[in-house]
Amino acid sequence: MNRVYDIAIVGSGFAGSLTAMIAKRLGLSVVLLERGKHPRFMIGESSTPLSNLLLEDLATRYDLPAIRPLAKWGTWQQSYPQIACGLKRGFTFYHHVLGHPDAPDPEHCNQLLVAASPYDGIADTHWYRAEFDEFLVHQAQDLGVEYVDEVKLEKFGESGDDLQLGGRKDGRSIEFRARFVVDATGPRGFLHHLLGLPEAEFPNYPHTQALYSHFSDVKRIDQIEPAAEMPPYPVDDAAVHHIFDGGWIWVLRFNNGITSAGVAATDNAATDLRLSEGAPAWERLLDLVPVLKEQFSSANAERPFIYAPRLSFLSSAVCGDRWVLLPSAAAFVDPLLSTGFPLTLLGVSRLADIFEHEWGSEHFNARLQRYAAKTMNEAVATSRLIAALYANMNNFPVFAALSTLYFAAASFSETARRLKKPQLAPSFLLHDHPVFGPACRRLFDRALHLRSEQDPVDLITDIQRTIEPFDVAGLCRRDRRNWYPVDAEDLFRGASKVEATHEEIAQLLQSCGFYR
Ligand SMILES: Cc1cc2nc3c(=O)[nH]c(=O)nc-3n(C[C@H](O)[C@H](O)[C@H](O)COP(=O)(O)OP(=O)(O)OC[C@H]3O[C@@H](n4cnc5c(N)ncnc54)[C@H](O)[C@@H]3O)c2cc1C
Repeated sequence: MNRVYDIAIVGSGFAGSLTAMIAKRLGLSVVLLERGKHPRFMIGESSTPLSNLLLEDLATRYDLPAIRPLAKWGTWQQSYPQIACGLKRGFTFYHHVLGHPDAPDPEHCNQLLVAASPYDGIADTHWYRAEFDEFLVHQAQDLGVEYVDEVKLEKFGESGDDLQLGGRKDGRSIEFRARFVVDATGPRGFLHHLLGLPEAEFPNYPHTQALYSHFSDVKRIDQIEPAAEMPPYPVDDAAVHHIFDGGWIWVLRFNNGITSAGVAATDNAATDLRLSEGAPAWERLLDLVPVLKEQFSSANAERPFIYAPRLSFLSSAVCGDRWVLLPSAAAFVDPLLSTGFPLTLLGVSRLADIFEHEWGSEHFNARLQRYAAKTMNEAVATSRLIAALYANMNNFPVFAALSTLYFAAASFSETARRLKKPQLAPSFLLHDHPVFGPACRRLFDRALHLRSEQDPVDLITDIQRTIEPFDVAGLCRRDRRNWYPVDAEDLFRGASKVEATHEEIAQLLQSCGFYR
């Protein structure tokens, strides 16, 4: 192919297609290259309020009206009922001791329910990636993006002033030329491989593994164990996390009868569970958690289990001469708390801004370097949180308290962005906030080394003190007993924390559809 594209994007997951659409909207010529063929299975399914806000924002900024309805359950159902999706009203956590039946828990000591939306219409979603990603690729093509699938890229290098990507399609050699390359191929992907980029390690982060599949006929927990009190949302309409010493299990329900489920665990726990054995390991794990055993008693795995011997990934480089990795190609920590999408979309948004304002300018490379530093720092900040959580999966009060640091930062950031004050929350997890960032780092470090009986008590107290000035979601309220609904009053009470008036909060609630 003789044509020289402005940008070649490798990988047509949602992030590659979205970046392609944005670049096209900015007037650049784009080729999108995929080694597989849509529709195809992809893991990474659960969205969050921040990821949906970013998706909505990108759709508005870059005039992508077809994408906007996907940012909420209600509009998605109205516009695209044919694209499967899951209803996510919040984050549900249960703690279990493997091999022991769960004790009655009237005070919710072994549960954490954090609502993210007050009703289904404006709820978050789980993206059924086979259909979601296929839809986005078609949208990109409709906008004029050249899309080539089933291409096996084997070469990357310079050709005069341009970059050259060479490979094979349908048994024939094929070549693409571009001025710039975006790698959207996920961890250990295209450029990591072809440029031989060394892998780095997250500091103090445990090695982890995963085993997962898609299932049919998975029962609902609220039918197996109806709650004595009304929870803030139906517990199954959420990203459900089952925590145990050294690992955790996710259960995400879609509206097409499929449920995504899997386990992530430290090497030690994974070895004990013999996760590498696949389906038998999953069955053994279910045997150790009676409620899950019942939930999956009639379930069938709809595809072969995938075993991932190494889950986390950190590249040693994020950009170079005329190429860049999306955050999802540069790093991955863990599915816990669904941090992958917001990190990826923050990166897409920053790159879009660079393409919009600096394409062809002398500042382009400097901006790219700043993007790379942010990408790296945010991944490392996420790894600190997740490492602290892994270290306390046998101590649920500490685990729950640490999780509220995430929820406090996420709800503060979402509110600041909705108030059009993004400067209050410029980084993921507020990690470079001058107060919250260093405080979190100290708390995460302490959480790795709890020794005396008093240490967890002090840590939980200090976590609450840290959260308080940022808490716009009532996360410091002990009377909630680990069940946190979405309550407008919490936001009104926290207005001054996000430098807002009562009227501004009222407007925000109105504009985001809080009141039906
Ligand atoms: C087990 C697991 C569970 C997760 N759960 C969540 C979750 O619940 N919530 C969340 O926010 N995040 C989650 N994540 C992270 C999430 O998967 C990623 O953030 C997300 O998939 C990134 O999307 P992407 O489009 O950038 O890349 P990907 O989804 O990885 O897509 C990459 C695309 O590139 C293609 N490709 C790969 N190599 C090549 C090549 N050499 N040439 C051409 N094409 C190539 C692939 O076929 C694919 O289409 C999870 C990750 C894992 C591993």
